[in-house]
Amino acid sequence: MTTRRKFLSASITASAAAMMGLSSKANQKTIDNYKSTTVIKPLIISTWHHGIAANEAAWQVLIQNGSALDAVEAGVRVTESDPTITSVGYGGSPDSDGHVTLDACIMDHLGNAGSVAFLENIMHPVSVARKVMELTPHVMLVGDGALMFALENGFEKENLLTPEAERKWREWLNKREDVPQKINEQYHDTIGMLAIDTNGNLSGACSTSGVSYKYRGRVGDSPIIGAGLFVDNEVGAASATGLGEAIIKIAGSHLIVELMRQGDSPKAACKIAVERILKKQKITKQLDAAFIAVNKAGETGAFALRKGFQYALYQNNENRLIDCDFLIE
Ligand code: ASP
Repeated sequence: MTTRRKFLSASITASAAAMMGLSSKANQKTIDNYKSTTVIKPLIISTWHHGIAANEAAWQVLIQNGSALDAVEAGVRVTESDPTITSVGYGGSPDSDGHVTLDACIMDHLGNAGSVAFLENIMHPVSVARKVMELTPHVMLVGDGALMFALENGFEKENLLTPEAERKWREWLNKREDVPQKINEQYHDTIGMLAIDTNGNLSGACSTSGVSYKYRGRVGDSPIIGAGLFVDNEVGAASATGLGEAIIKIAGSHLIVELMRQGDSPKAACKIAVERILKKQKITKQLDAAFIAVNKAGETGAFALRKGFQYALYQNNENRLIDCDFLIE
C-alpha cells in the first residue's frame, strides 16, 4: 500500500526534479543524491594543494552562515596574496615580457557573473571580478579597462612581480625557450573554488596568473564563464585547471554542469570532459587538464587528464587534500 509518507516523498522528489530542471529520464540518480541530503551542509572544493589554505578562509565565512559568494571570494583571495604560489596573483609567474597579468572570475547562485582578464598590478583580481558583476551591466573587463575600473573602485596599484619570480623569469630568458611555453605542473596551478552555503546556494570563483611566460595578451580559460567556471544553482558547479586553450575548446565547466543536469555524478561528468579533450584534441606531453565539480545534492567529484592533480575538500569539519583519479599515468 502506498503510504501517505511515500506519496509525499514522491511528490517532493518530483517537484525537486522540476526545480532542478532535470529531464524525467535522467533525474533519478541526481534526485536520489538530493534526497539523501536532508540537511544542507556547507562545503568547499578547490583545486591543488593551495586549496587547503583557501578552503580554511572560505570555511570561516560559511560556518558563520555567510554566503557561498562571500566564501569563494575570501578563499581565493588567500591564494592571490600568497607570494609563494607562483601561479596565482602576487608572486605569480610573469608573461614572457616580464609583466604579471592576471585572469579571474566569479559567479553566484543567481547566475550573475563577473570577470577580468589581462589585468596588471592588482593583488585581488577576484574582487575586481566581483565588482564587475555587481557594479556594471557587463560580465568581462580586460587589460587597461579592467585596471581603470579597479582603480576607480578603490583598488590600489601594486607591484606583483616578486624578486623570486623575477629571478626565475630571467633564468628562463637566458635559456631562450620558445613561446608558447610548455604546460606542466610547474607552469600552471589556477585556484578554482566552488562552495555550497547553509542555504544550499552555490557559487564559484577562480584566479590565475596563467601559463608561465605566456605570450603577452594571452588569456586562458580561467576568466571565461563556461570554460574555467560555471555555476547553475539548480544543478551544480564546476571549475577547471590546466591548459586553458584545451579547456576553452570544450567549454569544459559548462559541459560538466550540463552533464550533471542529465544525471551524471560530478566525478563522471568531470571524466567525460577529460575524455572529450582526449578525443578531440591533439595530445602533446604538455597538455594537462583537470576539473572539480559539485552538484546541488552536495556530491563532489573531480577528474584529471594526467596523474598528479590534487584537490582540497572541506566538508563535515574536515579539510582534506585528495589525489585525483586520472586517465594518463
Ligand atoms: N588554466 C590556466 C590557464 O590556462 C592555467 C592553470 O590552470 O594553471 O591560464
